Amino acid sequence: MTFPFEEIGAWIREPDEPCPPLQGEQRADVVVIGAGYTGLSAALSLREQGVDVLVLEQDFAGAGASGCNAGHLTPTIGKDLPTLLRMFGEQRAQALVQFADQAVEYTEHVVEHLGIECGYEPNGNILAAVHPKHEKRLREAAATASRLGGHVRFLCGDEMRERGLPRAFHCGVLEQRGGVLDPGQYVTGLRQAAIDAGVRLHEHSPVQSIDEGKPVRVRSEGGVVIADSAVVATNAYSRSIEVMPRKVVPLRVSLFETEPLSASQLAAVDWNGREGIYTSHEVLESYRLSARNTIIGGSRVVRYAYGSKLAPGYDPAAFETIETAFRQRFPQLEGVSVERFWGGWIGLGLDFLPMIGVTGDQENIHYGFGYAGHGVAQATLIGAMLSDRVLGCAHECESALARRAWSWPPEPLRYAAYKAVTRVLYAIDARTDRQLLRHR
Ligand SMILES: Cc1cc2nc3c(=O)[nH]c(=O)nc-3n(C[C@H](O)[C@H](O)[C@H](O)COP(=O)(O)OP(=O)(O)OC[C@H]3O[C@@H](n4cnc5c(N)ncnc54)[C@H](O)[C@@H]3O)c2cc1C
Repeated sequence: MTFPFEEIGAWIREPDEPCPPLQGEQRADVVVIGAGYTGLSAALSLREQGVDVLVLEQDFAGAGASGCNAGHLTPTIGKDLPTLLRMFGEQRAQALVQFADQAVEYTEHVVEHLGIECGYEPNGNILAAVHPKHEKRLREAAATASRLGGHVRFLCGDEMRERGLPRAFHCGVLEQRGGVLDPGQYVTGLRQAAIDAGVRLHEHSPVQSIDEGKPVRVRSEGGVVIADSAVVATNAYSRSIEVMPRKVVPLRVSLFETEPLSASQLAAVDWNGREGIYTSHEVLESYRLSARNTIIGGSRVVRYAYGSKLAPGYDPAAFETIETAFRQRFPQLEGVSVERFWGGWIGLGLDFLPMIGVTGDQENIHYGFGYAGHGVAQATLIGAMLSDRVLGCAHECESALARRAWSWPPEPLRYAAYKAVTRVLYAIDARTDRQLLRHR
């Protein structure tokens, strides 16, 4: 069986007039590498402070995860809050929840302040149980989140129905902050705002090497940038950059989009609140409606390629899994076809938390990455935090993220660790799905 595959999905297309590639020797106060949310947010914040910023992007702005993600703007952080609490204790877990909340607020501020039209629907997101047995776990998760300062509410089955949520989702935890947006329009809006603000953006300018020192020299095919500081904003792609610490691995995540639902199909689904939904699986499923009334969903499967390679994206086994899950959750949409599958790379640290740091012999190469699939909000805030770092001021959220972040072990241990962890997570999820089949 072949699946309709598109490299990057339908949110974004390469601009008709991409910014010119880097040519010759250029000087800047700061050179930013990577034009996704992290890099563009950092560049915009720096520019607002009058800094001369030059951004190098290997493809076009938004060609990475920022232009192809599912668009849930969410205060989700870490693997889950009970795990976060066990790993870091009450005080640090509270600070991390606050960081995640602030990330959503800051992103909303950026969207509004820059007037970015990205179809933002601030209806929250729901962590939903697909099996009644998960109710206890979700009640506990809601209680933990409230204790840590999260803005959540447990929704019992009746409340889910009152909100018009699809019947496959028995109960849930409503994250009241955030919602869903069009990720392509968001990153394209950031790109345009950066250009308008005077950021010098060069697309199709892959960085080949960074020579440490003050100034730092960043080389691309056509030229070199000489700058006081660098910001590396390449997230899942960071292993290609020699000076970067080996703290995140790239994982491939796949999505699908249906054809637009008709009015009667929408009514049959009864999803009037249009909240984003993710399931309480260990490797979650996500679903949302788009402005065109298509359903976009996916995940359930993550892929790691030996040696942290960015392997090609056509993944029929993953596509089959996510389509099967979709058909189970939305049986009322039997005749609705899936128009496209695509995927992209997320960056994962061993503790599932984002990292911000500095490297280089002159401590002037700053980086932020490792959002574990929650980067729409987190990457936007980390961009602003990177700007503060470059300017030598401490952002109020710095202390929440300060910790000794472990590096992934070298191969073949890294691959073995990925296999061992995902085997356990998939086994738990398979059990949930078997319980669900028996329950029917
Ligand atoms: C399929 C999928 C679904 C997701 N869904 C969600 C979601 O619903 N909600 C959520 O919060 N998060 C989600 N995420 C995660 C989120 O998209 C990312 O965390 C976020 O986009 C990271 O932004 P970034 O700018 O750090 O990285 P990216 O957007 O990946 O940007 C990195 C940029 O660096 C460029 N680059 C790399 N190497 C070089 C080089 N050598 N020289 C120059 N440029 C280089 C790349 O081309 C890319 O444009 C999802 C991710 C994927 C893949």
